[in-house]
Amino acid sequence: MKRVFNFSPGPSMLPNVVMQKVQQDLLDWEGSGMSVMEISHRSDEFLALAHLAEENLIKLLNIPNDYAVLFLHGGASLQYSAIPLNLGKNNKADYIITGHWGQKSEREARKFTKTQIAVDTMAELRLPTQQELNLDPKADYVHFAHNETILGLEFNYVPNTQAVPLVADMSSNILSRPIDISKYSVIYAGAQKNISISGLGLVIAHRALIGKQKPNTPGLLSWKEMLDNECMLNTPSTFSWYMAGEVFKWLIAQGGLANMQKINEQKARLIYDFIDSNDFYHNPIEVNSRSVMNVAFTLADESLNNKFLEQAKEQGLTNLKGHALFGGMRASIYNAMPIEGVQALVNFMKSFAKKV
Ligand SMILES: *Cc1c(COP(=O)(O)O)cnc(C)c1O
Repeated sequence: MKRVFNFSPGPSMLPNVVMQKVQQDLLDWEGSGMSVMEISHRSDEFLALAHLAEENLIKLLNIPNDYAVLFLHGGASLQYSAIPLNLGKNNKADYIITGHWGQKSEREARKFTKTQIAVDTMAELRLPTQQELNLDPKADYVHFAHNETILGLEFNYVPNTQAVPLVADMSSNILSRPIDISKYSVIYAGAQKNISISGLGLVIAHRALIGKQKPNTPGLLSWKEMLDNECMLNTPSTFSWYMAGEVFKWLIAQGGLANMQKINEQKARLIYDFIDSNDFYHNPIEVNSRSVMNVAFTLADESLNNKFLEQAKEQGLTNLKGHALFGGMRASIYNAMPIEGVQALVNFMKSFAKKV
């Protein structure tokens, strides 16, 4: 068997130890003689799993008591609708746009609220400054994508929105480092990058904001109904939930998020320093706005792109093709990517540049 270093942006690489545990559990989970996929979500065994996953997540992110944790359906994108439905009293909301996902969330939210663009720096490949944010004190919330996965652009500060609830899409950087939860009102993420496999949408929301949903909000989109029913209004994505629990245990065993931050910053430095050291590769993002999780880069000679991808694959370095919107390459280096994988990529990039 040969595992490659998989740089896929999502669904993404999972830690080998977690995959081995899953394999071991597959036919006989915890002595039950069944797979976790084959048991009721309302069984004592599954409820214990769900509680432990929540407890470990609370521990990892240091989530205060006045926040609720919800394991929901529909990945990140279903929350684009859930957010205006749950937070819409004045029927207007501010959106900070720094890339594709911010844009997409704003377009979807238009169906349920009047969206206002607080700032749009997407074309400039940089973060806005706090001073550039044109915020409406009467907005129901301010939304931003904490890490723009396609361009590889990540917030290095928390926008100050005064009394207006701050909502962060952290799909591609949650659990990559410690964060101060109390600076946000709502954090949400799809699971398939840094949490688990696809299917789940994780929401961490201040309890004071729960219960204000618009009338006729579908039950599965209502944070209140989901919270009241332990996120089991219907059958949840049980396998994704189980995998999330295994990833949380793995993160705790790694020394928690402070240690992940150290490793992740080391990985990012390794690749950005190399890209910046030569003219063969180029990263176009303003230096202070660069993502620790997704590193986009172009080759000076674009006609070499296919050759680069083919040879990388031969070396066991896969899924480096950039998003169609940006072109070029992108290395997604989430928690599960070991530093050896990034070192192997940099070594390959060096030798490729030398050979051609
Ligand atoms: C991947 C991604 C999404 C979409 O996630 P889904 O779970 O597929 O809906 C949204 N936002 C960001 C920042 C992402 O990286």
